[in-house]
Amino acid sequence: MLQDRFQRVHDYLRISLTDSCNFRCTYCMPEENIQCMPNAHLMQPDEIETIAKIFVSLGVKKIRLTGGEPMVRKEFAEIVERLAKLPVELTLTTNGVLVHQYLGLFKKAGIRSLNVSLDSLKQETFFKLTKRDKFQQVWDNIELLLKHDFRIKINVVALNGIIENELLDFVKITKQLPLHVRFIEFMPFAGNLWDSSKVLTAQKMLDMVKEEFDVVKLKDEPHATAKKYKAIGHEGTFAFITTMSEHFCGSCNRMRITADGKMKNCLFGKEEMDLLGTLRAGKEIEPLIRLSLYNKHAALGGQFSPDYQKAEADKIENRSMIKIGG
Ligand code: SAM
Ligand code: SF4
Repeated sequence: MLQDRFQRVHDYLRISLTDSCNFRCTYCMPEENIQCMPNAHLMQPDEIETIAKIFVSLGVKKIRLTGGEPMVRKEFAEIVERLAKLPVELTLTTNGVLVHQYLGLFKKAGIRSLNVSLDSLKQETFFKLTKRDKFQQVWDNIELLLKHDFRIKINVVALNGIIENELLDFVKITKQLPLHVRFIEFMPFAGNLWDSSKVLTAQKMLDMVKEEFDVVKLKDEPHATAKKYKAIGHEGTFAFITTMSEHFCGSCNRMRITADGKMKNCLFGKEEMDLLGTLRAGKEIEPLIRLSLYNKHAALGGQFSPDYQKAEADKIENRSMIKIGG
């Protein structure tokens, strides 16, 4: 069992497969100096399997593949096939644009749920945010996944000044479709020009939704990052990920490995443990995993105050989101 100093049991691992992406979301990928890591610096499929097996032997029950865009990794199918053999719930977070190419693989690997990112229901805004004209492809793929009975969570980064125009439309789509829409408060990472005025809090969004819909609060799962609601009579649900206005670090069970094999015990933590280098040197990685967890901070990677309005983006030491793996 992997437990930290605050008695939090960690059984959920997020593995980034690449820092490369076919989109250019402004809040995730810095505009300048985009240098993708050479393939030799990335964990190779057999190394991912070996590292994942060690985490599973230490109690990990769920693995999420992420990136960058996980499906642009050329060995994506091989990695999924290898991890599908482990006794864990396997899932992924994706921008959705390549989903139609891998539907058969997901079914074969027993993947039943996916998180698909979609920040706008309007083609123009989608293009402005991602710099790619792929709204229709992503939407078609969401419909394809629904047709094949996948459980879909839609991740929407709630950018102040943009999301207000679409908040109600996102709730509206949950009327007929069994989608679970999650509004994520905008978080600070290297190079994403974060400042507190760009955060629209969950409370403000909820107030706006309540003006239009009758809403009930749903029960949240243990370790949930999202606070879940439903508009009465709707098939789907909506939720808020309140990292900035009300963090949920007290029940955190998550660990991350970057595409280049560094363990991060927190999305915001600056400390990293070189699991891949250690594995390649023929040494044991379990002591490093335990040490990383031992050093985990109580909240927000120890990097900024829970009062997000006091957070200073230029004082936070971290990678960009695309290089961490969301
Ligand atoms: N490419 C995949 C995707 O877009 O879903 C996986 C990687 S992406 C980094 C993972 C998630 O992080 C996405 O849902 C994305 O919207 C979210 N994300 C990225 N930057 C963010 C930020 N600054 N604040 C909040 N969420 C962010
Ligand atoms: Fe790519 Fe996902 Fe980041 Fe957008 S959020 S740039 S799709 S990794």
